[in-house]
Amino acid sequence: MTAQRILISGAGIAGPALAYWLHRYGFQPTIVERAPSVRDGGHAVDFRGPVHLDVLGRMGLLDPVERARTGTGDWWYIDARGRRTVRMPAEQTGGDLEVLRGDLVHILHDATRDNTEYLFGDSITAIDDDADEVRVTFEHAAPRTFDLVVGADGLHSRVRALAFGPEETYLRHLGLYCAVFTAPNYLDLDRTGSVYVEPPGRYVAVSTALGNTEVRVLLSFSSAPLTYDRDDVAEQRAIVTRAFAGMGWETPRLLELMATAPDLYLDSVSQVRMDAWTRGRAALIGDAGYCPSSLSGMGTGLAVVGAYVLAGELAAAQGEHRVAFPRYEAAMRSYVEGGQKMADNVAGFMVPNSRFVASFVRMNFRLLRFVPYLQNMPARMASRAASAITLPPYPG
Ligand SMILES: Cc1cc2nc3c(=O)[nH]c(=O)nc-3n(C[C@H](O)[C@H](O)[C@H](O)COP(=O)(O)OP(=O)(O)OC[C@H]3O[C@@H](n4cnc5c(N)ncnc54)[C@H](O)[C@@H]3O)c2cc1C
Repeated sequence: MTAQRILISGAGIAGPALAYWLHRYGFQPTIVERAPSVRDGGHAVDFRGPVHLDVLGRMGLLDPVERARTGTGDWWYIDARGRRTVRMPAEQTGGDLEVLRGDLVHILHDATRDNTEYLFGDSITAIDDDADEVRVTFEHAAPRTFDLVVGADGLHSRVRALAFGPEETYLRHLGLYCAVFTAPNYLDLDRTGSVYVEPPGRYVAVSTALGNTEVRVLLSFSSAPLTYDRDDVAEQRAIVTRAFAGMGWETPRLLELMATAPDLYLDSVSQVRMDAWTRGRAALIGDAGYCPSSLSGMGTGLAVVGAYVLAGELAAAQGEHRVAFPRYEAAMRSYVEGGQKMADNVAGFMVPNSRFVASFVRMNFRLLRFVPYLQNMPARMASRAASAITLPPYPG
């Protein structure tokens, strides 16, 4: 086998999923993760359609992921007094299998920890690809050589910046920011989500987690690209607090809870658009290469399918990356484009910039109640996009 030692940057979803398959095919995966331990947190993520479930099944993870299912039912738009106005069906908000991102990250870590070398609290600083191997330097660990380096390090990928160029070239901002954190379920919600929208450009969603003991709060707001320190949580809290100042319903209380939340996650709602996900001995998977944005509901599915395909192509080519990488690109291209399309035009409807659009959206949901076929159309479209790839039966 040609390539053996494969360094993966990022222990989110895509990185451990790739490590799982690489080990199964006889490669030696190492994961470097900049957080000091598994970085959980985040909202619920969805699997949709037979392909996503098939990959989880082939990994032997369908049962643990099923057991972690959020079990959240329909969501409701509410008014400023908390009264339910319009229902959003569960299939639309949660796909076929919805789990908390943090639970999924732990399941993947548990499935790989015995067979993968994990380097926590570190990050790649330079990649020197001399065509025969890759010499990598780290912030803390001593320099090492690998056969291949894979960036699974999310929207702001370090591997992408080092091997492909600055992120401004590839990031497409969709006009929103999104903050997510955990809070107690003081509203006593029962397996549901409540959405409160206040134009222009503010959206608050609270949904239950962990048997109704907790909620995940999602605060989304319209904004041009912002400059801030992604490691400075206090600065991020200040940005969110400013953006939601004066908003009604439970927002003031939720902002208070954000001040002590242990897991605030703030990022732009953006896509990554690239013509190629491989260069020399470097490759990208998941959000690092083709983030479809949280508006698409496809990010996690693309990450696990991308990991399956990249590892499978490397195995089929017996580690010859010059054969495997073009095949990975060809197998994933139209699938990724279909997943990214699911985010088209969603931002303006989800977080309306005028009262007129907000009323239009609510009216549509109300009318669609009477036409179940149309009401379920967004969920069916998402399921179709998530299933638009034939998984090759790789060896092993
Ligand atoms: C804390 C967190 C919360 C999230 N919450 C949500 C959410 O609520 N809703 C949603 O739709 N999506 C969320 N996402 C993104 C979502 O997980 C991804 O869209 C999707 O699951 C694809 O996974 P991924 O593995 O490609 O990327 P990610 O899940 O983003 O994982 C990337 C991993 O790389 C690590 N990393 C980043 N930079 C470096 C570096 N320089 N060196 C080493 N490691 C690095 C990160 O710490 C992270 O563990 C969240 C991501 C994170 C990290």
